[in-house]
This record gives sequence, C-alpha cells and structure tokens, in this order.
Amino acid sequence: MGSLKEECGIIGVKGVLNASQHLNLGLFAMQHRGQEGTGIITCQSQQGEAAEVNGAFHEHRSFGLVGDNYPQKVLDRLKGESGIGHVRYSTQGGELIQNVQPFSFLLPELGPVALAHNGNITNALQLKQALEAKGSVFQTTSDTEVFIHLLAQQRNVPFPQALKQALKEVNGAFSLVILTQESLYIVRDKYGFRPLELATLDGGYAAASETCAFDLIGAKSLREVEPGEVIEIDARLQVKSFFYVEKRPQKSFCSFEPIYFARPDSIIQNELIYELRKNLGRVLAAEHPTEADVVISIPDSGVPMAMGYAEVAKIPYEMGLVRNHYVGRTFIEPSQASRDLRVRLKLNPLRHVLEGKRVVVIDDSVVRGTTCIKILNMIRNAGAKEIHFRVASPPITHSCFYGIDTPNRSALMAAQKTVEEMRSIMGADSLAFLSLAGLKKALGPGSDSRYCFACFSGKYPELFGIQIEAQPTDRLGTGLSASKMPP
Ligand code: SF4
Repeated sequence: MGSLKEECGIIGVKGVLNASQHLNLGLFAMQHRGQEGTGIITCQSQQGEAAEVNGAFHEHRSFGLVGDNYPQKVLDRLKGESGIGHVRYSTQGGELIQNVQPFSFLLPELGPVALAHNGNITNALQLKQALEAKGSVFQTTSDTEVFIHLLAQQRNVPFPQALKQALKEVNGAFSLVILTQESLYIVRDKYGFRPLELATLDGGYAAASETCAFDLIGAKSLREVEPGEVIEIDARLQVKSFFYVEKRPQKSFCSFEPIYFARPDSIIQNELIYELRKNLGRVLAAEHPTEADVVISIPDSGVPMAMGYAEVAKIPYEMGLVRNHYVGRTFIEPSQASRDLRVRLKLNPLRHVLEGKRVVVIDDSVVRGTTCIKILNMIRNAGAKEIHFRVASPPITHSCFYGIDTPNRSALMAAQKTVEEMRSIMGADSLAFLSLAGLKKALGPGSDSRYCFACFSGKYPELFGIQIEAQPTDRLGTGLSASKMPP
C-alpha cells in the first residue's frame, strides 16, 4: 500500500530429512518478503546413498507465490538433506526466470555451488565490468551473480578461503546462503544490513531471514548471524565460524525491518518486532499528542503502532479500515483498474467507527504519499469529522542503496515538501512524523550504533559506488530498481 518494498527472503537447511519440505514451509512463512518468484535447490548427499547420486543438486525455480509452486511431486523430486531457498520481490513485468534464485553454477575448481542472496551490492557494476574484462560471461542481470564469478576467480584454495577472498571484494548489503556438496555456508555482510538468523532443526541446522520461518518448521532459534560472519556447517554437521574482514565497522541493521518489513511475530536482534512496533506508536503519542475520539491504523504494519499510540494517548483503538487479503497482484494491474479503485479493492472504511469522529490515523511510513491521500480521502468520505494523521517513522528523504526498493528523491514526498505542504496535499487536519530521536528511543538503548537510518538522515554507512542524487543503484543496468515502487 505504497510503502517501501523488501527484496527477498532466504533460507538454508543442513542435515535434515526431506530438506525440501522444510524449505517450502520456511519460504511460505517469509512470503511477505517477496512475491515475484521463488526457488529451492537441494543437495542429495546422504551417507549410504548410491555413489552416483551423492552430491547431486536438484532445483526448481519459478515465478509466483510459494503456495502455488511446490506441489508434492516437485518436493519429492527435490531430494536431499540439505538445501537453500529464496523468495524474490519485484513489481514490474519483463522479469527474467534466470534472475529467480537460488543460482547454481559448476565452478571449475570448486565444483557445484548454489547461492541465494538478500540485499544489494553497491559496486556490482564495477565488479561486473572488471570480471567481464577478464573473460567472465554473465548469465543473468542480477547483481547476485557477481559472487559466483568472484568465487570462480579463486584458484588453488579451499572453498572457505575462496569465499573469504570473494566477499572482501563486495560492497553493500548481503545476507547469503551458499550450498556446496559438502557444506552449507551462511554469510552476512560486515554492516549487517539485512537480517539473518541461525537455528537448530531436527538434529541439523537452519538459517533464515526471519524467525517466523523457524516457527513453522519447528526449528529452535540459536542466535543472530553476526555482521561479517561466515558460518560453515559441514557434512558431519560440525559448525565453524570466521569473519571475512579483520576489522568490522559499526553495525547498520536496516531500521525499516522493525518499522515495516519483518513480520510482527519475528524476533530479530533478540527483539520481538511486535513490541518494537508498539513502542514506535507509544513514542509517537508522547511526541505528537492530539485531542481525538478514536485511533485507527492503516493495516497491517500500522496495527501495533496504533495500539501503542492508543495506549499512551488513552484514546480507544478501533478497526476503522478493513483490508481485503485476497486481492492478488494480477487483479490490480494498472491497465485494469484506476488507482482509486486499487486502494478501494484493498481497503474499506468502517463508517460505523468513523462517522462524526475525530480520528487519529496511524501509518508506518510515507513514501510517495499518493496512497495516503486516497486513504485519508476515503476516511473523510466515511464521515470522519477531523483527521489527525500520525506517521510512526521520520520523513523518508533519501533513497536506499542496500536492497530496499525506493524511488529516487524526486518521487519521495518528504524530500520535496514541507510537513505543512504534505498535510495540505493529504487533506489532513494535522500531520506529524515520529522524530529520528524518537525512532531511536523506540528501538531501544544503543540503537544509534546498531541500525541504519540513512533513508531518514542521508548518512549512508557505506558510500562506495553510490551517487546520492542519482537513481538508486540499479541491478546491473536492468532499469528495474528506480521504478518498481507502486504509486
Ligand atoms: S537506507 Fe533505509 S531502507 Fe535502506 S537499509 Fe538503511 S534504513 Fe533500511
């Protein structure tokens, strides 16, 4: 509904019976992180298997939702006790099936390797040009493929060393799961931009972007993967860990994960997302109180925030907008429906709650602002006497270069307008945003040195290859990133 969009969720399992079943369920739990395509690659290397199947990779990749793509006959074909999976985000047509992950390659010295990535490599274009000059031939338009070619460049070294060398060349955001015939590798970039968690599972191990995936497959959370850490789980299920950089920079976990992306039932950095969102609402109420009769939220991520706001403001929380969860993307293609209709297909106001009331409306963020205008108009038409719009994050004034799909600055409402101008355009009686200090307070002690706040502050943790005023770094020149935002 007009918020920023995540790009991808990843999962890996090692040492479990029927890996594909676990991967399928884990991806299903993380469907919110990407709906364009999904893939699973498993490795059949159980001891006692016939020699000719040991080390065989089995893969399935396709467009669409997890629930539509893995019938039992597909899962049965994906044999093995280890594997990795991926859900990919994108909104535009013309995507290539070659870009749906995980990717698998046969490397000359290292053998078969499969890899799934969440994030965005900020120096991908430079690396690609350098690799092509050395003879690499790219098969996709995804920045992720750069990892594979960097690995292929490493000669006469064992895999962990090759991986360490390759990772040192890459800048930006990456959480990775990498599968070889022997081992599962779990990797997080040195800033820790994107989430990655580790768990035990049925005598083996699992790693996933969010712990909600563990809940569904019965895995028990162990810990967060550290920024800069590489974890290897080998064929004997021995766990080894090393860091690919000698000196680690300050952690910069994406603050939009607790604001919007992560599921409220996920625990990330040892914190329950649901509670963090309530905190955002509580601090927002303390910073921007108002006289009102009812607090409502724009579903879904705004719900805990509105509950927190209502708790502190001592104003009743009500459901003022009902969301239709069954509106598929294909049903609302721009050619088929006006933008107004797209919003009305998804949300319906409850006149019973709104009519004649002074209403506080809580949303998680404002990106382009166009959807807010329509929703507030809908609330006004349902009879609200006053609308006080409260946003549980600071104004988004800068684009993201670390794997989150944002428009360039010219399309970010808060980068172009003052708060008063935005209020007037939105048709609200009052408008207020959570301050950056308030966001840090809501995220808890030490958040200043744990989170990235660059889309609010313009202070990018890593600037390599980034031109601040230009379009967000594109995925190897495909022209996708800057225009993928819904209106
Ligand atoms: S710039 Fe914003 S969206 Fe991107 S990683 Fe930082 S906090 Fe997250």
